[in-house]
Amino acid sequence: MSTPDFARHRLFVDAAFRAGADLPLERDQSNYLLNVLRLKANDAILVFNGRDGEWLARVAPEGRKQARLVLDRRVKEQPPPSELHYLFAPLKHARLDYMVQKAVEMGAGTLQPVITRRTQVSRLNLDRMRANAIEAAEQCGILGLPRIETERPLEAALAGLDPDRLLIFCDEGQEQDSPVAALQSRGPAPLAVLIGPEGGFEEGERRLIAARPNTLAISLGPRILRADTAAVAALAVVQAVLGDWASR
Ligand code: SAH
Repeated sequence: MSTPDFARHRLFVDAAFRAGADLPLERDQSNYLLNVLRLKANDAILVFNGRDGEWLARVAPEGRKQARLVLDRRVKEQPPPSELHYLFAPLKHARLDYMVQKAVEMGAGTLQPVITRRTQVSRLNLDRMRANAIEAAEQCGILGLPRIETERPLEAALAGLDPDRLLIFCDEGQEQDSPVAALQSRGPAPLAVLIGPEGGFEEGERRLIAARPNTLAISLGPRILRADTAAVAALAVVQAVLGDWASR
């Protein structure tokens, strides 16, 4: 892995990138560069738009509150999009912010909110989820932004998975057994991870999920984890055994 250049600040700018192009910035981005980071004319930062890799850009202040960036050159190619789907029962506010950021840091390429019987959240703020995904990408040197799907009921979310995708179902009702051994019993495949709501899955939901072919129920140990803890634990063990942490 090319070591990310964390000496420089990284900013997501949703614009077309080509050498020498001027990137107009929104006010909050200008304020962040000029008044929070206190960057001066010609200071360099790294920018990405989620499609064209990572570029070096120079700050061009326009007064105290506005700035634009001048693109210099691409310093990193755009990596292939992550294939990992993360399906989750949305949580409330800060817990959801945290879960979205961690899922992106852990390499999820698609975020699919799933409405189950015990899901506490009805309306989802997808813009807020996108802002959290961007923040995680800016902080962690991630160049691709996840696809954020609109929420779906459990049955539709399951039906929406392509058949060859292995669904790793984190089931708090599963007999405790090593998730590593369970995952190692499977070969490489496109992956999806499913985490339930604070109140867990109902028996009927458990049966529905387990009935889907190409589904593997795993235990995450002898303790019941909170959903946002389970998200990180599950994504870690999946990435380590079958995902992009495994040495290939
Ligand atoms: N029913 C429990 C909470 C479920 S935790 C209660 O109310 O306390 C929320 C989700 O995290 C679960 O649906 C499951 O997807 C995951 N999870 C938590 N602990 C787990 C474990 N020990 N094994 C597998 N999944 C777990």
